[in-house]
Amino acid sequence: MEHILIIGGGAGGLELATQLGRRFGRKGKAKVTLVDKNRTHIWKPLLHEVATGSLDTSIDGVVYHAHAARHSYNFQLGEFCKLDAVAKRVTLAASFDSDGDQVLPERHISYDKLVLSIGSVSNDFGTEGVAEHCYFLDSHAQAERFHHALINNFLRINQKATDEELNIAIVGAGATGVELSAELYHVTDLLKSYGLPQMTAKQLKISLIEAGPKILPALPDRISLSARKELVRLGVKVRESVRVASANKDGFVTADGEAISADMMIWAAGVKAPDFIRQLGLFETTRNNQILVHPTLQAKGFDDIWVIGDCCACELPDGSFVPPRAQSAHQMASCVFRNISAVYKNEPQQPYLYKDHGSLVNLSRYSTVGSLMGNLTGDRMFIEGRIARFVYISLYRMHQIAIHGWPKAIMVILAEKLGKVVRPKMKLH
Ligand SMILES: Cc1cc2nc3c(=O)[nH]c(=O)nc-3n(C[C@H](O)[C@H](O)[C@H](O)COP(=O)(O)OP(=O)(O)OC[C@H]3O[C@@H](n4cnc5c(N)ncnc54)[C@H](O)[C@@H]3O)c2cc1C
Repeated sequence: MEHILIIGGGAGGLELATQLGRRFGRKGKAKVTLVDKNRTHIWKPLLHEVATGSLDTSIDGVVYHAHAARHSYNFQLGEFCKLDAVAKRVTLAASFDSDGDQVLPERHISYDKLVLSIGSVSNDFGTEGVAEHCYFLDSHAQAERFHHALINNFLRINQKATDEELNIAIVGAGATGVELSAELYHVTDLLKSYGLPQMTAKQLKISLIEAGPKILPALPDRISLSARKELVRLGVKVRESVRVASANKDGFVTADGEAISADMMIWAAGVKAPDFIRQLGLFETTRNNQILVHPTLQAKGFDDIWVIGDCCACELPDGSFVPPRAQSAHQMASCVFRNISAVYKNEPQQPYLYKDHGSLVNLSRYSTVGSLMGNLTGDRMFIEGRIARFVYISLYRMHQIAIHGWPKAIMVILAEKLGKVVRPKMKLH
């Protein structure tokens, strides 16, 4: 029986594993295996909510083993580290528990068809001190680490009962930096209801630092301006055209030599595919380590390897690349599902057509702004408020439907709504 192996169960990979499991695994037409280095899946655009405690991964995460059993694919826990494309074999690194005892040994898995969907990591562009001193939001482990430090700072300041400030500096005013800033104000506002009245939003001082001339650089001016206005209203110090040259334990130093002091520093300035992809020495890659693909999403030079999501460099007719977004990963998963199905039917594969449905930025409960692409006119339509919030949430709902199917997704959504009533609004542990 043919073996389809998917590496990375994120926004794209988990949707693809679900579709392939249902189509081929259930009927015994092919064996489908998903590998991920984590045990649970959290949709990455929600990581800023994990970081602030608005979302509890122990409740909201999807457990891969259980999901695999339900959707007729196999799950292997492990970190992909090597690929032998001639022998058609990947290697998963040995894993260890927190005491250093080995949990799983190094393993090799053979495949007939391979899909790489390992996402991206933050790009610090080699900036001195960033790796040592900053938090990143690349994984839920990192978001949890930030969350623990944040709660400790809340407790520390609350205990002192003075008007000491909590200074947080965020580098990169893309969607991650902007959404995180607003979410931090939201959770700080909740603290008084949970017995921490001395730590108020007035004491929270956020600096949002952007090297470019405007925040949300990839989005139209109208959205950037609207989001900026809202952030400033909340109290965020928005600093455009400021280039950070280094980080140290006390904060950032700009290219002009200015010191920006901070108790907590977050780096959210751009993404790249993991460095080891380039080090494999197999693929044609961009300078961000993304793998160059043909329009069918097959890696250049390989008929049996497809690449989807943030680690994929798919060129658009104008020479730019498909942006690293959840909607791209979702569309690419559907395209590769159709193409693998076509290969089994001896039909030609179809090219991936990127459909930009627009972009939305959610400023926590304060505001949502964005644009939608008009299907007929091709024009951008600016939206904000309730409609924008509804469309923003719809993207996550589509992911839930893709990985659970309609009936279970409806139950999960209802359980979430119920949870909002019976559970605290933020995680304080
Ligand atoms: C805070 C935040 C907010 C965002 N907001 C938005 C938004 O509003 N809209 C939007 O469109 N996009 C948003 N994005 C971007 C979006 O999350 C990504 O574009 C999307 O998740 C990419 O999907 P993917 O499947 O390529 O990778 P991911 O979803 O990152 O999944 C990669 C998977 O691979 C696994 N993995 C990685 N390396 C290995 C390895 N070596 N071995 C085994 N497994 C591995 C990881 O554990 C993970 O499960 C946001 C991102 C962040 C961080």
